[in-house]
Amino acid sequence: MLLALLNLAHADLNVVATLPDLAAVSQAVGGDHVKVTSMALPTQDPHFVDAKPNLAVKLSKADALVHVGLEMEIGWLPTLVTGSRNKDVQSGATGNIDCSQYVTVLDKPAGAVDRAMGDVHGQGNPHYFYDPRRMKDVALGLADRFGQLDPEFAEVYTANAQAFAADIDAHLPEWERRLAGYQGAPVIGYHRSWSYLADWTGFSVVGAVEPKPGIPPTPGHIAKTVNGAKETGVQLVLIESFYPATSASLVADKAEATLLTLTAGTDFPRQTYVAHIDAWVDSMEGAL
Ligand SMILES: [Zn+2]
Repeated sequence: MLLALLNLAHADLNVVATLPDLAAVSQAVGGDHVKVTSMALPTQDPHFVDAKPNLAVKLSKADALVHVGLEMEIGWLPTLVTGSRNKDVQSGATGNIDCSQYVTVLDKPAGAVDRAMGDVHGQGNPHYFYDPRRMKDVALGLADRFGQLDPEFAEVYTANAQAFAADIDAHLPEWERRLAGYQGAPVIGYHRSWSYLADWTGFSVVGAVEPKPGIPPTPGHIAKTVNGAKETGVQLVLIESFYPATSASLVADKAEATLLTLTAGTDFPRQTYVAHIDAWVDSMEGAL
């Protein structure tokens, strides 16, 4: 009995994150006091993860659910949250952590967006985890919530989040120096996921191979995108590794631009978020 109580007193926070980037930041903030799992793999499209029963089982034991919000996971997460029957992670619970509340959101639609039309960015652009500066704010927000869930270690969580932010700050000048050539450069993306990376590194997203977020390219839209790319002098087409490369490759070829494929997420738990961004900078430097 005593042993059971001791175990209970020292139980780690069980954190389930939807995406590996959020898992990596949760791990950085929670340190030794959390057990973190990611629902999606870094090679999976975060808009369309299979809502497999084993994910509901994971959620049923979670103290915290860390998610992107802005409808990023709306196609698969609500079913799992309901299926978990875990009151601690339901919408409105302290353990249900929508990280979009901690960042400045880009591409908010001016009017109403009908998801039935296929646009998967109806609440604004959910790909903010592509900007390391915004992830500092996410870390501080997570520290606040982890501290509410586990007050005993609240100060540790805050200190860990501050250390994470300091680590990002220590890397930013070097990253920004290496990507200085991106300032003002016209770039095309496959999906409209690059707004935050553009906001950080200064490139300009002048088009997307998808006609709307989540809608596969049509020949007509591809032709229009190629023309736009030629007119604006696009040198680079960006695509995440989980998308089919055919259309993006065609646009890059016709526009005489480079196609750069990036692995969307952190390879959690083998890679930290900072190491992931570092790998992106390696890939991006010299691609322009
Ligand atoms: Zn998207």
